[in-house]
Amino acid sequence: MTTDQNSRRVASALSDSQSGAIEHPVPRAVYWCRNCDVPLISRRCDICGSTGRYCGVDLKPVFPEERLLFERFLRCSGVLPAEGRLPKELYIHRGRVVWRGKRLFEFKVVAGEMVLKSDFSLSPEDYGWGNDDFVHRAVEANKSALTELEKEAIQFINNALIEFPGTEPIVAFSGGKDSAVTAYLVSRVACPVLFFSNTTIEYPDTYEYISSFAESFGLKLVREEPDTDFLTMCERLGPPSRILRWCCSVFKGTLLSRFLNRLDYEAINFDGIRRRESNRRSKYDRSTRNPKAVKQITFRPIINWTSLEVWLYNFWHDLPLNPLYFKGFGRVGCYPCPNNTEYDDFLTNECYPELWTQWQERLAEFFDQKYAHNYDEAHRDQWLREGLWKKRMPHRDTEYSTVSRPCLEQSGLSYKMSKPIDDQLIQFLRPLGEVRLLQLGNEIDLSLTRTGWYQITGTLNDNHLTVIFLNGRGHQSKLLIERQLRKWLNCIGCGACVGTCPAGAISIQAGSFQIADNLCTRCQKCVRSNFTRQGCVALSYKSNSVRIREE
Ligand code: SF4
Ligand code: SF4
Ligand SMILES: [Zn+2]
Repeated sequence: MTTDQNSRRVASALSDSQSGAIEHPVPRAVYWCRNCDVPLISRRCDICGSTGRYCGVDLKPVFPEERLLFERFLRCSGVLPAEGRLPKELYIHRGRVVWRGKRLFEFKVVAGEMVLKSDFSLSPEDYGWGNDDFVHRAVEANKSALTELEKEAIQFINNALIEFPGTEPIVAFSGGKDSAVTAYLVSRVACPVLFFSNTTIEYPDTYEYISSFAESFGLKLVREEPDTDFLTMCERLGPPSRILRWCCSVFKGTLLSRFLNRLDYEAINFDGIRRRESNRRSKYDRSTRNPKAVKQITFRPIINWTSLEVWLYNFWHDLPLNPLYFKGFGRVGCYPCPNNTEYDDFLTNECYPELWTQWQERLAEFFDQKYAHNYDEAHRDQWLREGLWKKRMPHRDTEYSTVSRPCLEQSGLSYKMSKPIDDQLIQFLRPLGEVRLLQLGNEIDLSLTRTGWYQITGTLNDNHLTVIFLNGRGHQSKLLIERQLRKWLNCIGCGACVGTCPAGAISIQAGSFQIADNLCTRCQKCVRSNFTRQGCVALSYKSNSVRIREE
C-alpha cells in the first residue's frame, strides 16, 4: 500500500472514530448513595437500587498513608485532638475532603504549607469510622456502570485493531492509573507492548512499578532512554514552565518517535489520556495523528472517563497501583513538572526531600544566572517558594547576528551568517533539494537548485550564502529557507523534530541533527511542521536564539 493510500485510510478511520458515533455518554458528575454510603458513577446504586444525590464533579479515594498526613496536619492546626482519628472512608477532590458524601474539610497549600480553608469538626464517636476496604464496596455499588464502560472501551479498541489489520498495538505507559487501565483493557483484546519514555525525572517508585506491572501481566516493556538528561536540557533551554513546556516534546515525543522508527512493523498507539485532566486535554480527539510523531496513530479508549471511574475500575480488577498514589499523589508524572499542583509539590518535598532540594537548587542557579542583576535574594526565595518559576514567560535576548541583504544583480538575497557553512547546514538544506558539493582547489562549493523555485550557493567554511529566487517565487521560498537557516543557527540537538518525518529520515547522531539523504523524499513536512509553534524546540523556547535581520 502506498503512503498516500495509507494516509487516506488513516484519515477516513480517524474521521469515523471522531464522529462520536461510538463514544459513550459521559456521566459528568459523582452521586452519593446515602443508604450504602458509597459514591456512584451513575444515578443508580447496584447494592440497594436507590437513586443517588449529586455529590461533586469527581473523587479520588484517600489511602491510609495520606489519611495519616491529614491527621498530622489537622492536629498541628489544633482542630483534631491528639487521640482523634479521621474516618477511614474518605474521598478527595482538589483539596476538598469528602466523608459520607459531604465535605469534611477543605485545605490548600500556600508557599509550601498546608492551610485549612474551611471549618472542621468531628464527634469522638466518628473517630476511625468505617472500613479499610471501602473502595471494594464502592465497586459493588457501581458494577453495572463499570461493566458498560468496559464493554464500550473494549469495543473501541477492537474496532481500532480491525481497522488497521497487520499492525501491532503499543500502549504509552507512564506508570499512572490511567495507563494501567488502558494497558489492561488493550491486553483483554491483544498483547500490547508497553512503551515507557524515560524522562530521567520520574519518581523512583515509578521506575520500579513499570517493570513489576509488565511482569505481572506477562507484557513486553520497552523503556527508551534519552541521550541527554532533563537537567542538561534545562541548561540549554531554561526550566520548563506552564507556557514553555518543551519537556514533553523533547522527551516523550522524541523517544516514542525514535522507537517507532526502529520498528519493522506498523504500530498503533493506545494512551490513557482523559479529557477531565486539564482544559487543554478536554479538547483532545479520541483518535488522532500527532504532528510531533506522524508515524503514529493514537487511540484513547478512556478519554471520557472520570477519575473515580478509573479508580473503581482499577479496584474491580485489582490492578497493581503505583505506590505514589498511596502517598497521596493525585497524578503520576515527573517531579519538576510545571503542571504539578502546589499539593503535589508539597508531597514531593515530604516524600522525596532529596529530589525536591536538588530541583530547587537548579532553579536557584537559573534565577541567579538570569535575573540576579535585577533582583535580590528575597525575590529569589519568593520565586522558588511560591512556584513562580512555573509562570515563566518567553523572554528573548535575541541576537540578530545573521544578516540578509538583497542581491543587487538578481532577484534574491545574500546572507552573511554568524557562523561558517558546515556539514550541519547541509543536513538542514536537504529537505529543500539535492545538495551538490564540488571541490575547486582548496574550496568546496555547495549548490542546491529546486527547478522553477530557487538556487542556493555557498562555500564550505565561509559565512556567505546566496539565494536566487526563480520565477518571482520569493516570498514562500524565503520563509522555508530562512526557517531551515534559523534551525541550523540554533539547533540544540534535542531530537523533538524526529517524529515529524514520515520517512524516518531524521535522527540525532552524537547530539547532531542528521537527515539520511537516501531516505529523504523532500516532502518538506519537517520544514512546514508547526509543532511547538515553529516546528523546532530551540526556535520556540531558547531565550537567546539567533535571528536573521534584513538590511
Ligand atoms: S519530512 Fe523527512 S522525508 Fe520529508 S523532507 Fe523532511 S526529512 Fe525529508
Ligand atoms: S532542529 Fe530544533 S527540534 Fe530539531 S533537533 Fe534541532 S533544536 Fe531540536
Ligand atoms: Zn445503595
